[in-house]
Amino acid sequence: MKADRTKKLEKEMLTCTFCGFCKSVCPYFEDDQWDPSVARGKVILAYGLAREDIEPDDSVVKRIYQCTTCKDCERRCPSNIKVIEIVKAARRDLVEAGHMLPAHSKIVDNIERTGNPYGETKATDFGVPIKQAEIGYFIGCTSRYRTTEIAEHTISILNKLGIDFTLVEEGCCGSTLHRIGHSKEEILKLMKANLDAVERLGIRKLLFTCAGCLHMFEEEYPKHFEFDFEVEHVVQYLARQKLKLKPLRKRITYHDPCHIGRHMSIYDEPRALLRMIPGAEFVEMKESKESSRCCGGGGGVRANEPDASQRIASRRVTSASEVADILVTSCPFCVSTLIFGNDLVKMDVEIKDITELVDDLLIA
Ligand code: SF4
Ligand code: SF4
Repeated sequence: MKADRTKKLEKEMLTCTFCGFCKSVCPYFEDDQWDPSVARGKVILAYGLAREDIEPDDSVVKRIYQCTTCKDCERRCPSNIKVIEIVKAARRDLVEAGHMLPAHSKIVDNIERTGNPYGETKATDFGVPIKQAEIGYFIGCTSRYRTTEIAEHTISILNKLGIDFTLVEEGCCGSTLHRIGHSKEEILKLMKANLDAVERLGIRKLLFTCAGCLHMFEEEYPKHFEFDFEVEHVVQYLARQKLKLKPLRKRITYHDPCHIGRHMSIYDEPRALLRMIPGAEFVEMKESKESSRCCGGGGGVRANEPDASQRIASRRVTSASEVADILVTSCPFCVSTLIFGNDLVKMDVEIKDITELVDDLLIA
């Protein structure tokens, strides 16, 4: 197989000393304890593909996709290896050579047919008119079609605060396609359609509740297009507001979604928001902020290996249940994966998106 993109990272891969420090943090390795699923294993496989020393057989393809792109190995790696770039390049080369996993082919087909990875054909009506406004809210496919309550709570918060905002005629942001190695041309089409939809409404600041969508707009869109509106997670926006919240006598902990945590360093704002709740005790899990463990959902893992994803999520929920009554996060995909994880271990901990908690307590 030709692996031109992976080949360009050959030098990067050769800096791996095989020290194994990445083993101490990889959620996938913690789950299956097999070396090929940890960063150094993927580096060896990707190097083999780049040199055309190994064939992309089923076992190689499977291992290259056992990565949630959580970035924790990069934090731990003494050689500063860009593991995610290597994984993404190898996936892109595999897809180009015709090695897409069936679960991912279904996502691609859904997006091509319906504009969203879930294949939903009926748009959810959130009762908000689309109009010219300085502030826009990009809901993202997961909250448009699955965890709709997150979009409803966000809309309710913005309405309670008297903010003039609009929704957007949005389509998939392209995040999933990007992470599973799909063709750049298709992703660029999605990006362009979303940017046109935002720009025709005169939006100056676009708010997000999905960590994956925001990360895509922050990191990937500017590589290909110029635009002059700001992007921000709703937790950043709300942390600057004067919120009047009802008291809540509970212990609350926070799970950092990898794509706004390690990938974007948004750590303080959600914590500042949670500390605004009168009577609540904010507690950290042992692994938080930079060292937060992954929920197990990202990088196409949940679609392809739901059982592994569920086990990884169950560990995070178990950690939360040891310190808190409520586990809060700020990404619909993390919320749904953590709830899925708790189906396995049935811990006595509520799992909520931060918008749900804030809206329930916000005094209009
Ligand atoms: S921590 Fe970095 S250098 Fe060490 S084995 Fe893992 S990828 Fe290689
Ligand atoms: S990005 Fe996360 S899941 Fe992927 S190899 Fe690194 S630690 Fe493991």
